[in-house]
Amino acid sequence: MTAQGGDLLAWLESAITRAEDLARAAADKEQDASWSDGGEYGENVHTDGVASAVVVGPWGYLPDATRTYIAANDPASVLRRCTADRKLLELHAPMEDPDVVGRDHLHCQTCAAPVLGELDNVAFPCSTVRALAEGYGWTEETSLPNGQGQSPPNEGEQVT
Ligand SMILES: [Zn+2]
Repeated sequence: MTAQGGDLLAWLESAITRAEDLARAAADKEQDASWSDGGEYGENVHTDGVASAVVVGPWGYLPDATRTYIAANDPASVLRRCTADRKLLELHAPMEDPDVVGRDHLHCQTCAAPVLGELDNVAFPCSTVRALAEGYGWTEETSLPNGQGQSPPNEGEQVT
């Protein structure tokens, strides 16, 4: 695996795990992963199952846009997105080129589909994996040579 591809893959897997850990911690704290905005006349964000308030505004209510945004990004939705992102990573996993054994050259197993008996030259990480990583905050500057890339956002912070 190329150094950059390996760094990016490790960084992305760490970022997804971090997002999952945060979502599970919030779901555990609230005893429910599914949160509701209360609908048209809702005032706060509450859990679906045990119906306890998760977020209440300073005057006992939240603005509609804030309330619906928080509920739309509840732990259940974050965990669904993480699962879907892991499936995409699996589909776009690195694959060795059988014609280039022993060299540090990998292809995306989906994007580098055989064309006329030879692999199309789509190196790993492909644009799909890069786009996934960007969704978690990765930039070209994030993954530095020799494994000194930045950590995923918020890594190492304590969940309270
Ligand atoms: Zn791909």
